[in-house]
Amino acid sequence: MLGYSLQGRPIHLWQLTRGIRSFLLIGGVHGDEVEGYGLIERYLASGKWGSLESKAALWAIPRLNPDGCALGQRLNANGVDLNRNLPTQDWVAASLEARYPPGPAPGSEPETQALLASLAQIRPQFILSAHSCQSNPCVNYNGPALELAQAMAAHNGLPVTDDIGYPAPGSLGTWAGQERQIPTLTLELRRGTPLDQVWQEQAEALQAVLEWAAQDDAF
Ligand SMILES: [Zn+2]
Repeated sequence: MLGYSLQGRPIHLWQLTRGIRSFLLIGGVHGDEVEGYGLIERYLASGKWGSLESKAALWAIPRLNPDGCALGQRLNANGVDLNRNLPTQDWVAASLEARYPPGPAPGSEPETQALLASLAQIRPQFILSAHSCQSNPCVNYNGPALELAQAMAAHNGLPVTDDIGYPAPGSLGTWAGQERQIPTLTLELRRGTPLDQVWQEQAEALQAVLEWAAQDDAF
């Protein structure tokens, strides 16, 4: 376990497989995006990750924002957008949009601190964070992750983009992908898709991108 949310819910970090390279799956950064964290949770339950054993150390934080997931809200219990709260070079106190309050200071939230601790511990070579959105589902990539995004898109048919159309200071894509060149995918699923359908459409894509990343010459 990584730590506790503001309301005292545990934030779990699971290690699924072992290997030299480390990969990290993240869900539930935004608590109202059940399509994203539902996919990660179902993947964990499926056991499909077993094929990665000894090829890569696969880690997962299925619900980074367990309070938001319990309350069905995007933000954490302090009303902070955890995907704007990371200590990036471009972090700003001003909220660019009302939906994205970045918090009183970079890294101020316990959930953000838990994520930073896991990143320091795992030092992942590849990160995938699953979200959902009302319009423009896509495989968004930051850092050297174009081929990973394409490996995923080949199976789920979503457009690949390195530009979500608005700045995202304090986001994981900026912190890990842009500033540290850690290949980072932000999978944006369509909001409102039933979980069975999400699984049908995404299970192979998720498996394929992990298998792709686990190849000896992937990075
Ligand atoms: Zn999101």
